[in-house]
Amino acid sequence: RAKSGKRGSYCMFERGMDAAMRTRHLVRIELAGAMSRGELELHYQPLFDIASNHITACEALARWRHPERGLIPPNEFIPVAEESGLIIPLGAWVLEKACADAARWPIDAAVAVNLSPLQFRNSSLVDTVAKALAAADLRPDRLQLEITESVLLDDSAGNLATLRALRQLGVRIAMDDFGTGYSSFGYLRSFPFDKIKVDREFVRDLPDSPESLAILRAVVGLGQSLGMTTTVEGVETQDQLSAVRTEGFVEAQGYLLGVPVPNAEMVKILHGHRPVRGRVRSA
Ligand code: C2E
Ligand code: MG
Ligand code: MG
Ligand code: MG
Repeated sequence: RAKSGKRGSYCMFERGMDAAMRTRHLVRIELAGAMSRGELELHYQPLFDIASNHITACEALARWRHPERGLIPPNEFIPVAEESGLIIPLGAWVLEKACADAARWPIDAAVAVNLSPLQFRNSSLVDTVAKALAAADLRPDRLQLEITESVLLDDSAGNLATLRALRQLGVRIAMDDFGTGYSSFGYLRSFPFDKIKVDREFVRDLPDSPESLAILRAVVGLGQSLGMTTTVEGVETQDQLSAVRTEGFVEAQGYLLGVPVPNAEMVKILHGHRPVRGRVRSA
């Protein structure tokens, strides 16, 4: 029940709920058509090696270019796709498209793809990933799969088996939004992730928050002890970047360093970029 502290706030809350539900309903109806009409796009946001300032990877972020509503962010349609099961074909499309785009990039930066819970539990996931890599002829170690705690849900043997099968393919696995769930540490104990990506919540109030700094310092220690790359997301200011550099993070991502852009634009950025570890693709 909404509080009625301010005049009319109860009514506004109810109306807001209705609008949100209407939107979800519309999205559900329109999303399948949107996929077949080719209205879904992947934008890419770079991840930088903090020490060398090189782009190590680009994260694929889904967008829906709606003919009337413009560019719709993933938070407005990924959850709906998840509820309706559409995330299975949608997620497969994201994997295929991301691998195909990355295979044509001018430097061999990795591509990071987000997985959703239903997608992760689907028995065809490992096969879908293998097929996407093969179709694009992309080296498996150039694909990084980002998995949040909500994807793992429980510490089950099934989750572990899936993670191991993915690892067996040669892809890298990152724990995304680290620190926001209940048992982030438990997952680190049961599976050797390649990367810990700390949620931007811990970056937002840098450099003035001793608490955030203490947590970030602990994550760097964990990463070093466990042999995992440590990454921060949501770096928006030079002060935040300085702080995470001082703490010893390996990678950073955020609006300060690069916003998500369409693939064509990312290709231009990568062309002007010094090659990662001196390696340039021959094609
Ligand atoms: P995420 O994986 O944690 O992705 C990072 C989000 O933070 C992106 O939002 C990105 O645009 C945003 N971001 C990056 N740098 C900054 C910054 O400096 N400041 C702030 N305030 N935000 C920043 P986006 O693109 O709206 O994506 C939101 C979430 O949607 C993603 O969170 C991811 O969980 C999900 N998502 C996106 N694409 C896909 C997809 O293809 N499949 C699945 N399953 N989920 C996806
Ligand atoms: Mg992510
Ligand atoms: Mg994240
Ligand atoms: Mg996050």
